[in-house]
Amino acid sequence: MKKRSSPDLLVPLPFRTGEPAPGNRLQLGEMGAALQELARAGAPLPTGFILPVGLGALVLEERNGVPEALGEAIETGLSQLEAWAGRRLGDPQAPLLVSVRASAPAAVPMAMPAVLNLGLSEAVVRTLIAAEREPRQVWDAYARFLRGYGEHVLKLEPGGFEEMLEPLVERHSAEGVYQLDAAALEQLAGAYLERLRGANGAKLPAEPREQLTQALLAGFRAWNHSRAVAHRHARSLDGLRGTAMVVQTMAWGTGKSGCGAGHLFSRVPADGEKRLYGRYLPAAQGPDLTAGERMPDSLDALKKRDGALWQQLDQWATTLERQFQDAVEVQFTVEDTRLYLLSVKSARRSAQAALRVALDLVEEGIGDERHALRHLDPKLVDHHLHPVLDKSSHPTLLVKGLPASPGSAVGQVVFFAEHAEELHNQGLETILVRHETTPEDINGLKVACGILTATGGLTSHAAVVARGMGKCCVVGATDVSINYHINEMTIGEVTVKRLDWVSLDGNTGEVFLGKLPQIAPTLQGGLAKVLGWADKQRRMGVRANADTPEDARRAVELGAEGIGLCRTEHMFFALERIPIFRKMILAVDEVGRAAALAELLPLQRKDFMDILRVMAGRPVTIRLLDPPLNEFLPRGIRSQTRMAKAMGIPLEVIQRRTEVLTEANPMLGHRGCRLAITYPEIYQMQVRAIVEAACIVMKEGVPVQPEIMVPLVSTTRELEVIREMIEELARRVMAELGETFPLRIGTMIETPRAAVVSRAIAPHADFYSFGTNDLTQMTYGFSRDDTGIFMPSYLERGILDTDPFIELDQEGVGALVKWAVEQGREVNPELKIGICG
Ligand code: PEP
Ligand code: MG
Repeated sequence: MKKRSSPDLLVPLPFRTGEPAPGNRLQLGEMGAALQELARAGAPLPTGFILPVGLGALVLEERNGVPEALGEAIETGLSQLEAWAGRRLGDPQAPLLVSVRASAPAAVPMAMPAVLNLGLSEAVVRTLIAAEREPRQVWDAYARFLRGYGEHVLKLEPGGFEEMLEPLVERHSAEGVYQLDAAALEQLAGAYLERLRGANGAKLPAEPREQLTQALLAGFRAWNHSRAVAHRHARSLDGLRGTAMVVQTMAWGTGKSGCGAGHLFSRVPADGEKRLYGRYLPAAQGPDLTAGERMPDSLDALKKRDGALWQQLDQWATTLERQFQDAVEVQFTVEDTRLYLLSVKSARRSAQAALRVALDLVEEGIGDERHALRHLDPKLVDHHLHPVLDKSSHPTLLVKGLPASPGSAVGQVVFFAEHAEELHNQGLETILVRHETTPEDINGLKVACGILTATGGLTSHAAVVARGMGKCCVVGATDVSINYHINEMTIGEVTVKRLDWVSLDGNTGEVFLGKLPQIAPTLQGGLAKVLGWADKQRRMGVRANADTPEDARRAVELGAEGIGLCRTEHMFFALERIPIFRKMILAVDEVGRAAALAELLPLQRKDFMDILRVMAGRPVTIRLLDPPLNEFLPRGIRSQTRMAKAMGIPLEVIQRRTEVLTEANPMLGHRGCRLAITYPEIYQMQVRAIVEAACIVMKEGVPVQPEIMVPLVSTTRELEVIREMIEELARRVMAELGETFPLRIGTMIETPRAAVVSRAIAPHADFYSFGTNDLTQMTYGFSRDDTGIFMPSYLERGILDTDPFIELDQEGVGALVKWAVEQGREVNPELKIGICG
């Protein structure tokens, strides 16, 4: 997020219906800004005032003291509120009750939860009961206030409150606090009050004004909790200096008749249908909706029971959609049949709903294409590009877990990673089912086509590893009970044995019995339309990763403008080629290597011809060989013996060579352009194949645009030497074949050093392509194939916010990219820039 300078407001910013708080989002925070919008729209909302972010920053600067400006701001804000309400905080005759909430300037979690009903005291409780309110409702509100204040302001353990509540609930044979009568709630409040007056040296101030000050201080200071700081840091939000706080008159949702709390979505979050959706709980405050003690009604049920209220909600949903130009979700409270809107924000929604909402809003003229695109998560495209299950046969749903990684997978069940490997070697598709996976399962995870775990959440090992591999995964399917001894799992009455077929839906978390057909993804319909909008807005070209003619064809069909990365090593892994490539690796001298390479040349030339023909003049960036040679040799004695037999050479030769080539630090050894410094003939063969292929295809009348990319450069000399070789050879081959074409030569920037010395490298490169896999690996020092061991803990504990191999780390890796581009372009303004990974 960009820092925008805004004057440091240190005064309270009052708001009420029709009178929005003055200020911007950075001063008011997200909730404050939303309340401002509600006020502007004339929505019925409880009056309040916002203490701006500037005051929050001041509080944090003072550390332990209380800045004078805070006291003044509270006094001014409160006086305004009291004047509007005709009631005063703590006044037993005409008491004002308020809520206190944090309003951060960006969506950052770990803010202090709301403190509700502040202003209640035993004296106020008694006046309220005497004057107007049901005793049960008032004691309930008081108990809630004491608990909220105890937990969030005095930082008392929640367990202590539960210990007081449980015996009361039992004694009254109640299901929860909501079934306790007034007398029991009075008793509960008494017990809570006792705790707040003594324990841990914590003290509930006697004066409500002082209570308010303490609650506000706690909210401001929560900004600096270590997890909150780490979270902001990970999102490059360090520039934000604090939170705003909102103080608002309470609306009584807990009365028996005509009172309640609810939450609405202007469109159905699961599929985006334009229909009011949500929940309403009579006689409740907001937190009761999610507490799980009572089942809220659907808004459809509310429509039948109280059509007038539903009508009002529907109207506000429509108005606010127009104001926000997006689907919205709104929290509301009803006090004595009067509706109050408490908050509004862009609605959460599924990937499927996101697409439909975007299309519908543009269609309905509520937002334009650009605006709709801003509200779409790029992951949406990922969701829509995986094959989906064909559920038209109404298959049996076995169980539903958490959708941890999108797509679908259909395979035979195995319960051990080794079984997945064995079956994979036999060409079978498997679904690996485990309680939870561990790093030891990694080889099984790699070969299984889908993963199902009975436990674990969205940051569990299985979830993180599967997302990293782009593999369908369902976790936390808690109804699954696995018996590893007899290789079976049971779900209710159903038993699934090893090798039975199941089908996973990684978008919904559903698991079906049997082998469902899968529907290949297409770029048609809604997604195509949305991508069309994106095409009109984008400033970057989009190319595909492709190394076969089939992939290239598909890429063109899907709209790629070229190939950005053609990894040539994949061409050597083909069954009929790997023996030749191995011959080259095992050759003891240049002559032996040259003979094997001569055999590979026509095969490689054909690959390039086929790809260049398909791409018909579109650019194709071909990367010269990158992986370490040991990756082409078999591991394990059995495979090595088979290879020795097939090649007619002693086993020891293979073992010795494998030993020599194996890297002590994976992916940091003899690979990339280093191969070309020691064995120039490999790259020479590849360059010849590329240039010959281009000349031949040109002769057929098909335009060509090959580009040659040198991987893993870290010094200028590497690129200089290899470029000279490429240019010289290309000239020669073009002369031999009587054709010429412009040949761009560039490099991957994937070592931190290359990025740092970009000024020196850029004059030798026509283009850069940032290799985000290696650049991330080397910048963090994370082995990219081993992060599955610790990444889940990193995400769970908030040390990292996202996996940097999935979402580029802007702060570190991004800084290197920025530096390399700026420095490179200064010395070579023509330098073309790309990114891949
Ligand atoms: C990269 O490092 O980002 C890259 C694209 O290359 P590879 O993944 O093949 O190492
Ligand atoms: Mg790389």
